[in-house]
Amino acid sequence: MTRLIFLGPPGAGKGTQAKILADIRQIPHISTGDILRNAKAQGTPLGQKAQGYMDRGELVPDSLILDLIRERLGEADAQAGWILDGFPRNVSQAEFLDSLLQELHQEFDGVVNLDVPDEVLVARMLERGRTDDNETTIRRRLEVYRQQTAPLIKFYGDRHQLHLVDGNQLLDEVTATLKQLVPV
Ligand code: ADP
Repeated sequence: MTRLIFLGPPGAGKGTQAKILADIRQIPHISTGDILRNAKAQGTPLGQKAQGYMDRGELVPDSLILDLIRERLGEADAQAGWILDGFPRNVSQAEFLDSLLQELHQEFDGVVNLDVPDEVLVARMLERGRTDDNETTIRRRLEVYRQQTAPLIKFYGDRHQLHLVDGNQLLDEVTATLKQLVPV
């Protein structure tokens, strides 16, 4: 059973690596960014509410995210394990996740932080060209990451649940490191 949380700044490759590892382990890759982008594309109420925040590079309010995570982790496929990508993104989401997992009688294996220098992040995001990947939004997302998400490195580090991984290696090298880190 694999249950992992992926942390790291925007552009670090969390989504790519989380998907590869989830496919190998045959468990769901749960990306709040993907869920929100789908909702936005389909114009659902969630998508409409989230759109402005995402386009500005801000976090969407916790009120939009927490129920969504509760529902997703309750689904049948998530009982075999999961990789969370993009959640939690601030301390209150991390505290929510703690109590949710207690409720579900689930524990996670660890938290992976993919570390990549800022200039590499910006270059990667500009190359990717998602609609929220313009310079202004990228800069704002990095700021929001530093202010709200980076404190989770200490949050999980203090509990000895954190694995630091160099995300500035070749894609396959990062995958190999991750596979070693979390043996089946
Ligand atoms: P990236 O890691 O490149 O920033 P994501 O796909 O993880 O991209 O997220 C895209 C956007 O979706 C974020 O900028 C934010 O607006 C929103 N988002 C995703 N996950 C969360 C979350 N857990 N809490 C609040 N907002 C979120």
